[in-house]
Amino acid sequence: MNILVLNCGSSSLKYQLFRMPEEQVLIRGGIEKIGSEDALHTYKTDGQDGQDQTTSQILDHREALQQVIEVVTHRSGVLQSVEEIAAVGHRVVHGGEQFALSSLLTDEVKRAIQDNVELAPLHNPANLQGIEAMEAVLPGVPQAAVFDTAFHQSMPPEHYLYPIPYVLYKRHKVRRYGFHGTSHRYVSSRVPYLVHRDLMNLKVISCHIGNGASVAAIQNGRSTDTSMGMTPLEGVMMGTRSGDIDPSLQEYISRKEGLAAAEFSSMLNKHSGLYGISGLSGDMRKITEARAKGSARSALAFDMYEYRIRKYIGAYVAAMNGVDVLLFTAGVGENSPLLRRKICDNLTYLGLELDPQANDQGKGERIISLPTSRVTVCVIPTNEELMIARDTQVLVSGLESWEK
Ligand code: ADP
Repeated sequence: MNILVLNCGSSSLKYQLFRMPEEQVLIRGGIEKIGSEDALHTYKTDGQDGQDQTTSQILDHREALQQVIEVVTHRSGVLQSVEEIAAVGHRVVHGGEQFALSSLLTDEVKRAIQDNVELAPLHNPANLQGIEAMEAVLPGVPQAAVFDTAFHQSMPPEHYLYPIPYVLYKRHKVRRYGFHGTSHRYVSSRVPYLVHRDLMNLKVISCHIGNGASVAAIQNGRSTDTSMGMTPLEGVMMGTRSGDIDPSLQEYISRKEGLAAAEFSSMLNKHSGLYGISGLSGDMRKITEARAKGSARSALAFDMYEYRIRKYIGAYVAAMNGVDVLLFTAGVGENSPLLRRKICDNLTYLGLELDPQANDQGKGERIISLPTSRVTVCVIPTNEELMIARDTQVLVSGLESWEK
Protein backbone atom coordinates (compact mmCIF):
# COMPACT_ATOMS: atom_id res chain seq x y z
CA MET A 1 0.00 0.00 0.00
CA ASN A 2 1.42 3.43 -0.99
CA ILE A 3 0.75 6.30 1.39
CA LEU A 4 1.46 9.94 0.60
CA VAL A 5 2.39 12.00 3.67
CA LEU A 6 1.87 15.75 3.43
CA ASN A 7 2.94 18.68 5.57
CA CYS A 8 1.32 21.84 4.18
CA GLY A 9 2.37 25.35 5.23
CA SER A 10 0.87 28.59 3.95
CA SER A 11 3.29 28.98 1.02
CA SER A 12 5.18 25.69 1.07
CA LEU A 13 4.62 21.97 1.40
CA LYS A 14 6.70 18.87 2.02
CA TYR A 15 5.81 15.32 1.03
CA GLN A 16 7.03 11.74 1.25
CA LEU A 17 5.54 8.70 -0.46
CA PHE A 18 5.83 5.52 1.64
CA ARG A 19 5.43 1.91 0.56
CA MET A 20 3.77 0.25 3.54
CA PRO A 21 4.14 -1.95 5.49
CA GLU A 22 7.76 -2.08 4.22
CA GLU A 23 8.17 1.54 5.41
CA GLN A 24 10.22 2.36 2.31
CA VAL A 25 10.35 6.00 1.17
CA LEU A 26 9.82 5.93 -2.61
CA ILE A 27 10.15 9.67 -3.14
CA ARG A 28 10.44 12.78 -1.00
CA GLY A 29 10.12 16.39 -2.02
CA GLY A 30 8.92 19.88 -1.32
CA ILE A 31 7.53 22.96 -3.00
CA GLU A 32 8.41 26.48 -1.86
CA LYS A 33 6.93 29.83 -2.82
CA ILE A 34 3.44 28.52 -3.60
CA GLY A 35 1.42 31.50 -4.89
CA SER A 36 4.23 32.80 -7.11
CA GLU A 37 5.45 32.54 -10.71
CA ASP A 38 8.72 30.94 -9.65
CA ALA A 39 7.64 28.25 -7.22
CA LEU A 40 10.48 25.78 -6.63
CA HIS A 41 9.76 22.04 -6.60
CA THR A 42 12.59 19.82 -5.37
CA TYR A 43 12.38 16.03 -5.19
CA LYS A 44 14.50 12.93 -4.82
CA THR A 45 13.57 9.31 -5.40
CA ASP A 46 14.81 6.34 -3.36
CA GLY A 47 18.39 5.58 -4.39
CA GLN A 48 18.84 8.75 -6.45
CA ASP A 49 22.07 10.65 -5.69
CA GLY A 50 21.28 14.28 -6.41
CA GLN A 51 17.85 15.84 -6.45
CA ASP A 52 15.69 17.15 -9.28
CA GLN A 53 14.47 20.73 -9.30
CA THR A 54 11.88 22.56 -11.37
CA THR A 55 10.68 26.14 -11.22
CA SER A 56 7.22 27.04 -12.48
CA GLN A 57 4.16 29.11 -11.79
CA ILE A 58 2.13 27.53 -8.98
CA LEU A 59 -0.69 29.75 -7.81
CA ASP A 60 -2.29 27.72 -5.05
CA HIS A 61 -2.16 24.48 -3.05
CA ARG A 62 -4.34 22.69 -5.58
CA GLU A 63 -1.90 23.40 -8.41
CA ALA A 64 0.98 22.44 -6.12
CA LEU A 65 -0.59 19.08 -5.30
CA GLN A 66 -1.44 18.45 -8.96
CA GLN A 67 2.25 18.89 -9.67
CA VAL A 68 3.20 16.55 -6.81
CA ILE A 69 0.91 13.86 -8.23
CA GLU A 70 2.28 14.46 -11.71
CA VAL A 71 5.86 14.04 -10.47
CA VAL A 72 5.02 10.95 -8.41
CA THR A 73 3.09 9.20 -11.17
CA HIS A 74 4.88 10.36 -14.33
CA ARG A 75 8.05 12.40 -14.18
CA SER A 76 9.87 10.41 -11.51
CA GLY A 77 8.59 7.03 -12.69
CA VAL A 78 7.99 5.99 -9.09
CA LEU A 79 4.36 4.98 -9.70
CA GLN A 80 2.57 4.04 -12.91
CA SER A 81 -0.75 5.66 -12.09
CA VAL A 82 -2.57 7.70 -9.52
CA GLU A 83 -4.65 4.65 -8.53
CA GLU A 84 -1.56 3.29 -6.77
CA ILE A 85 -1.88 5.94 -4.04
CA ALA A 86 -4.02 4.21 -1.42
CA ALA A 87 -4.27 7.00 1.14
CA VAL A 88 -2.97 10.41 2.18
CA GLY A 89 -1.82 11.35 5.69
CA HIS A 90 -1.70 15.01 6.72
CA ARG A 91 0.26 16.63 9.50
CA VAL A 92 -2.17 18.92 11.34
CA VAL A 93 -0.73 21.20 13.99
CA HIS A 94 -3.63 21.79 16.39
CA GLY A 95 -6.24 19.22 17.34
CA GLY A 96 -7.37 21.11 20.45
CA GLU A 97 -9.12 18.90 22.99
CA GLN A 98 -11.05 17.00 20.33
CA PHE A 99 -8.23 14.71 19.20
CA ALA A 100 -6.16 12.43 21.41
CA LEU A 101 -5.59 10.14 18.41
CA SER A 102 -5.12 10.45 14.67
CA SER A 103 -8.36 10.38 12.70
CA LEU A 104 -9.69 9.65 9.23
CA LEU A 105 -10.81 12.90 7.63
CA THR A 106 -14.56 13.45 7.52
CA ASP A 107 -16.59 16.66 7.32
CA GLU A 108 -16.88 16.56 11.11
CA VAL A 109 -13.11 16.25 11.57
CA LYS A 110 -12.54 19.12 9.14
CA ARG A 111 -15.00 21.26 11.14
CA ALA A 112 -13.08 20.44 14.32
CA ILE A 113 -9.79 21.48 12.67
CA GLN A 114 -11.53 24.70 11.60
CA ASP A 115 -12.72 25.21 15.20
CA ASN A 116 -9.10 25.19 16.31
CA VAL A 117 -7.94 27.81 13.81
CA GLU A 118 -7.97 30.46 16.54
CA LEU A 119 -5.54 28.35 18.58
CA ALA A 120 -3.10 27.92 15.66
CA PRO A 121 -3.83 30.80 13.27
CA LEU A 122 -0.63 30.33 11.29
CA HIS A 123 -0.81 26.57 10.82
CA ASN A 124 -4.31 25.09 10.88
CA PRO A 125 -5.62 27.18 7.92
CA ALA A 126 -2.71 25.98 5.76
CA ASN A 127 -3.25 22.38 6.88
CA LEU A 128 -6.94 22.68 5.93
CA GLN A 129 -6.05 24.20 2.56
CA GLY A 130 -3.86 21.18 1.88
CA ILE A 131 -6.61 18.76 2.91
CA GLU A 132 -9.22 20.42 0.71
CA ALA A 133 -6.86 20.71 -2.26
CA MET A 134 -5.98 17.02 -1.93
CA GLU A 135 -9.68 16.10 -1.86
CA ALA A 136 -10.04 17.92 -5.17
CA VAL A 137 -6.92 16.38 -6.72
CA LEU A 138 -7.49 12.79 -5.49
CA PRO A 139 -11.27 12.49 -4.99
CA GLY A 140 -12.35 9.34 -3.18
CA VAL A 141 -8.88 8.55 -1.77
CA PRO A 142 -9.07 8.21 2.05
CA GLN A 143 -7.21 10.88 4.00
CA ALA A 144 -6.14 10.99 7.62
CA ALA A 145 -5.13 13.78 10.01
CA VAL A 146 -2.28 13.29 12.48
CA PHE A 147 -2.17 16.02 15.12
CA ASP A 148 0.93 17.55 16.73
CA THR A 149 -1.03 18.05 19.94
CA ALA A 150 -2.68 14.61 20.20
CA PHE A 151 0.05 12.74 22.12
CA HIS A 152 -0.08 15.31 24.93
CA GLN A 153 -3.84 14.98 25.47
CA SER A 154 -2.97 12.43 28.18
CA MET A 155 -1.69 15.26 30.44
CA PRO A 156 -3.80 15.57 33.59
CA PRO A 157 -5.53 18.92 34.34
CA GLU A 158 -3.07 19.82 37.09
CA HIS A 159 -0.37 19.78 34.40
CA TYR A 160 -2.25 21.39 31.53
CA LEU A 161 -4.05 24.23 33.29
CA TYR A 162 -2.53 27.68 33.81
CA PRO A 163 -2.98 29.12 37.29
CA ILE A 164 -5.23 31.93 35.99
CA PRO A 165 -9.05 32.29 36.38
CA TYR A 166 -10.56 28.90 35.54
CA VAL A 167 -13.35 30.56 33.60
CA LEU A 168 -10.84 31.43 30.83
CA TYR A 169 -10.29 27.72 30.22
CA LYS A 170 -14.02 27.11 30.01
CA ARG A 171 -14.77 30.14 27.85
CA HIS A 172 -11.78 30.30 25.52
CA LYS A 173 -9.98 26.90 25.78
CA VAL A 174 -6.98 28.59 27.41
CA ARG A 175 -4.76 25.73 28.58
CA ARG A 176 -1.49 24.03 27.74
CA TYR A 177 -1.69 21.67 24.72
CA GLY A 178 1.95 20.91 23.83
CA PHE A 179 3.38 20.26 20.34
CA HIS A 180 5.90 17.97 18.58
CA GLY A 181 3.63 15.16 19.80
CA THR A 182 4.18 13.00 16.71
CA SER A 183 7.94 13.28 17.18
CA HIS A 184 7.87 12.54 20.94
CA ARG A 185 5.58 9.57 20.24
CA TYR A 186 7.86 8.22 17.48
CA VAL A 187 11.12 8.50 19.43
CA SER A 188 9.61 7.07 22.62
CA SER A 189 8.20 4.16 20.58
CA ARG A 190 11.82 3.31 19.62
CA VAL A 191 13.02 3.15 23.25
CA PRO A 192 12.03 -0.52 23.89
CA TYR A 193 14.06 -1.60 20.83
CA LEU A 194 17.15 0.16 22.20
CA VAL A 195 16.96 -0.52 25.93
CA HIS A 196 15.08 -3.84 25.77
CA ARG A 197 12.57 -2.78 28.40
CA ASP A 198 8.83 -2.30 28.20
CA LEU A 199 7.85 1.36 27.69
CA MET A 200 4.98 0.72 30.10
CA ASN A 201 7.46 0.49 32.98
CA LEU A 202 9.71 3.40 32.03
CA LYS A 203 10.04 7.09 32.88
CA VAL A 204 11.34 8.81 29.75
CA ILE A 205 12.38 12.43 29.21
CA SER A 206 12.35 13.26 25.50
CA CYS A 207 14.20 16.36 24.26
CA HIS A 208 13.12 17.39 20.73
CA ILE A 209 15.63 20.15 19.99
CA GLY A 210 15.42 21.60 16.51
CA ASN A 211 14.59 25.14 15.40
CA GLY A 212 11.59 24.75 17.66
CA ALA A 213 12.31 22.77 20.83
CA SER A 214 10.30 21.00 23.48
CA VAL A 215 10.92 18.57 26.32
CA ALA A 216 8.34 15.93 27.25
CA ALA A 217 7.90 13.76 30.34
CA ILE A 218 6.62 10.36 29.23
CA GLN A 219 5.52 7.90 31.91
CA ASN A 220 4.27 4.41 31.03
CA GLY A 221 4.23 5.39 27.35
CA ARG A 222 1.97 8.42 27.90
CA SER A 223 2.88 12.10 27.86
CA THR A 224 2.38 13.48 31.35
CA ASP A 225 3.88 16.94 30.79
CA THR A 226 5.60 18.92 28.05
CA SER A 227 7.30 22.29 27.88
CA MET A 228 5.31 23.94 25.06
CA GLY A 229 1.96 25.33 26.09
CA MET A 230 -1.09 26.84 24.47
CA THR A 231 1.27 27.89 21.68
CA PRO A 232 4.78 26.69 20.74
CA LEU A 233 6.28 29.77 22.44
CA GLU A 234 6.33 28.41 25.98
CA GLY A 235 9.10 26.28 27.44
CA VAL A 236 12.80 26.07 26.64
CA MET A 237 14.79 28.71 24.76
CA MET A 238 14.73 28.03 21.00
CA GLY A 239 16.38 29.23 17.77
CA THR A 240 14.36 32.44 17.51
CA ARG A 241 11.71 31.94 20.24
CA SER A 242 12.21 33.07 23.82
CA GLY A 243 10.51 30.19 25.64
CA ASP A 244 9.45 31.03 29.23
CA ILE A 245 9.61 34.68 30.33
CA ASP A 246 7.96 36.76 33.03
CA PRO A 247 4.52 37.65 31.57
CA SER A 248 4.89 41.19 32.96
CA LEU A 249 7.61 41.87 30.38
CA GLN A 250 4.88 42.45 27.82
CA GLU A 251 3.40 45.48 29.57
CA TYR A 252 6.82 46.93 30.48
CA ILE A 253 8.63 46.44 27.16
CA SER A 254 5.63 47.46 25.06
CA ARG A 255 5.38 50.72 26.99
CA LYS A 256 9.12 51.43 26.85
CA GLU A 257 9.52 50.50 23.18
CA GLY A 258 6.07 51.53 21.91
CA LEU A 259 5.20 48.05 20.66
CA ALA A 260 1.72 46.84 19.70
CA ALA A 261 0.67 43.40 20.98
CA ALA A 262 1.38 41.77 17.61
CA GLU A 263 4.84 43.37 17.46
CA PHE A 264 5.66 42.11 20.95
CA SER A 265 4.53 38.62 19.99
CA SER A 266 6.61 38.78 16.81
CA MET A 267 9.65 39.83 18.86
CA LEU A 268 9.26 36.78 21.12
CA ASN A 269 8.71 34.40 18.21
CA LYS A 270 11.16 35.66 15.59
CA HIS A 271 13.81 37.84 17.24
CA SER A 272 14.53 36.11 20.53
CA GLY A 273 16.15 32.83 21.61
CA LEU A 274 19.65 32.07 20.26
CA TYR A 275 19.20 34.80 17.67
CA GLY A 276 18.10 37.45 20.17
CA ILE A 277 20.98 36.83 22.57
CA SER A 278 23.77 36.25 20.02
CA GLY A 279 22.60 38.93 17.59
CA LEU A 280 23.97 36.55 14.97
CA SER A 281 21.67 33.65 14.16
CA GLY A 282 19.03 31.24 15.43
CA ASP A 283 20.92 28.38 13.76
CA MET A 284 22.82 26.25 16.28
CA ARG A 285 25.56 25.37 13.78
CA LYS A 286 26.43 29.07 13.35
CA ILE A 287 26.27 29.68 17.11
CA THR A 288 28.58 26.73 17.78
CA GLU A 289 31.07 27.96 15.16
CA ALA A 290 31.04 31.54 16.46
CA ARG A 291 31.42 30.29 20.06
CA ALA A 292 34.47 28.26 19.03
CA LYS A 293 35.99 31.38 17.44
CA GLY A 294 35.58 33.32 20.68
CA SER A 295 32.28 35.18 20.26
CA ALA A 296 31.18 35.98 23.82
CA ARG A 297 27.54 36.60 22.87
CA SER A 298 27.30 33.29 21.03
CA ALA A 299 28.86 31.54 24.05
CA LEU A 300 26.29 33.23 26.29
CA ALA A 301 23.44 32.20 23.97
CA PHE A 302 24.70 28.61 23.98
CA ASP A 303 25.03 28.52 27.78
CA MET A 304 21.53 29.95 28.30
CA TYR A 305 20.07 27.45 25.82
CA GLU A 306 21.75 24.50 27.53
CA TYR A 307 20.80 25.73 31.01
CA ARG A 308 17.13 26.17 30.17
CA ILE A 309 16.87 22.69 28.65
CA ARG A 310 18.63 21.20 31.69
CA LYS A 311 16.25 22.97 34.07
CA TYR A 312 13.29 21.35 32.30
CA ILE A 313 14.95 17.96 32.52
CA GLY A 314 15.38 18.52 36.27
CA ALA A 315 11.75 19.60 36.55
CA TYR A 316 10.54 16.45 34.82
CA VAL A 317 12.70 14.21 37.01
CA ALA A 318 10.81 15.80 39.91
CA ALA A 319 7.47 15.55 38.06
CA MET A 320 7.89 11.79 37.52
CA ASN A 321 9.86 11.06 40.72
CA GLY A 322 12.74 9.75 38.62
CA VAL A 323 13.93 9.08 35.09
CA ASP A 324 15.07 5.88 33.39
CA VAL A 325 15.74 7.15 29.86
CA LEU A 326 16.84 10.57 28.61
CA LEU A 327 16.64 10.92 24.86
CA PHE A 328 17.70 13.53 22.33
CA THR A 329 16.21 14.09 18.90
CA ALA A 330 15.75 16.65 16.03
CA GLY A 331 18.39 18.81 14.31
CA VAL A 332 20.32 19.97 17.38
CA GLY A 333 19.50 17.00 19.62
CA GLU A 334 20.74 14.52 17.00
CA ASN A 335 23.76 16.48 15.77
CA SER A 336 25.29 18.41 18.65
CA PRO A 337 27.49 16.19 20.86
CA LEU A 338 28.63 19.40 22.57
CA LEU A 339 25.14 20.33 23.77
CA ARG A 340 24.39 16.77 24.88
CA ARG A 341 27.67 16.62 26.81
CA LYS A 342 27.12 19.97 28.53
CA ILE A 343 23.63 18.89 29.59
CA CYS A 344 24.74 15.46 30.80
CA ASP A 345 27.83 16.80 32.65
CA ASN A 346 25.46 18.52 35.03
CA LEU A 347 23.15 15.57 35.58
CA THR A 348 25.67 13.30 37.29
CA TYR A 349 23.68 13.62 40.56
CA LEU A 350 21.16 11.30 38.87
CA GLY A 351 23.82 8.63 38.50
CA LEU A 352 23.98 9.49 34.79
CA GLU A 353 27.28 8.56 33.13
CA LEU A 354 27.78 9.64 29.54
CA ASP A 355 29.91 7.52 27.21
CA PRO A 356 32.03 10.27 25.55
CA GLN A 357 33.00 8.11 22.60
CA ALA A 358 29.45 7.04 21.76
CA ASN A 359 28.33 10.64 22.20
CA ASP A 360 31.02 12.13 19.93
CA GLN A 361 31.56 9.50 17.30
CA GLY A 362 28.52 7.29 17.00
CA LYS A 363 25.90 7.68 14.28
CA GLY A 364 22.12 7.33 14.18
CA GLU A 365 19.97 5.60 16.75
CA ARG A 366 22.14 4.60 19.73
CA ILE A 367 22.77 4.56 23.46
CA ILE A 368 25.34 7.17 24.52
CA SER A 369 25.59 6.39 28.25
CA LEU A 370 27.88 3.82 29.90
CA PRO A 371 26.46 0.41 30.89
CA THR A 372 26.87 1.42 34.57
CA SER A 373 24.81 4.61 34.14
CA ARG A 374 21.61 4.71 36.22
CA VAL A 375 19.94 6.72 33.44
CA THR A 376 20.14 5.40 29.87
CA VAL A 377 20.85 8.27 27.47
CA CYS A 378 19.88 7.77 23.81
CA VAL A 379 20.05 9.60 20.50
CA ILE A 380 17.04 8.71 18.36
CA PRO A 381 16.61 10.43 14.97
CA THR A 382 13.01 11.53 14.70
CA ASN A 383 10.75 10.48 11.85
CA GLU A 384 7.40 12.23 12.06
CA GLU A 385 6.55 11.35 8.45
CA LEU A 386 6.88 7.63 9.15
CA MET A 387 4.61 7.97 12.18
CA ILE A 388 2.01 9.72 9.99
CA ALA A 389 2.30 6.96 7.37
CA ARG A 390 1.86 4.28 10.08
CA ASP A 391 -1.18 5.98 11.59
CA THR A 392 -2.73 6.45 8.15
CA GLN A 393 -2.13 2.80 7.29
CA VAL A 394 -3.73 1.68 10.56
CA LEU A 395 -6.75 3.94 10.01
CA VAL A 396 -7.43 2.98 6.39
CA SER A 397 -6.91 -0.75 6.95
CA GLY A 398 -8.87 -0.91 10.22
CA LEU A 399 -5.84 -2.49 11.97
CA GLU A 400 -5.42 -2.17 15.72
CA SER A 401 -1.85 -0.92 15.60
CA TRP A 402 1.09 -0.75 13.20
CA GLU A 403 3.18 -3.29 15.13
CA LYS A 404 4.00 -6.12 12.74
P1 ADP B 1 12.94 22.10 12.44
O1 ADP B 1 12.49 22.41 13.86
O2 ADP B 1 12.81 23.26 11.52
O3 ADP B 1 12.46 20.78 11.90
P2 ADP B 1 15.51 20.76 12.67
O4 ADP B 1 15.04 19.69 13.57
O5 ADP B 1 15.95 20.41 11.30
O6 ADP B 1 14.52 21.98 12.61
O7 ADP B 1 16.75 21.48 13.43
C1 ADP B 1 17.42 22.56 12.88
C2 ADP B 1 18.52 22.98 13.85
O8 ADP B 1 19.45 21.90 13.95
C3 ADP B 1 19.30 24.21 13.41
O9 ADP B 1 19.50 25.07 14.52
C4 ADP B 1 20.62 23.61 12.97
O10 ADP B 1 21.69 24.49 13.14
C5 ADP B 1 20.75 22.46 13.94
N1 ADP B 1 21.78 21.53 13.49
C6 ADP B 1 21.79 20.75 12.38
N2 ADP B 1 22.98 20.09 12.28
C7 ADP B 1 23.72 20.47 13.35
C8 ADP B 1 25.03 20.18 13.81
N3 ADP B 1 25.82 19.34 13.14
N4 ADP B 1 25.47 20.77 14.96
C9 ADP B 1 24.69 21.63 15.64
N5 ADP B 1 23.44 21.96 15.25
C10 ADP B 1 22.97 21.40 14.13
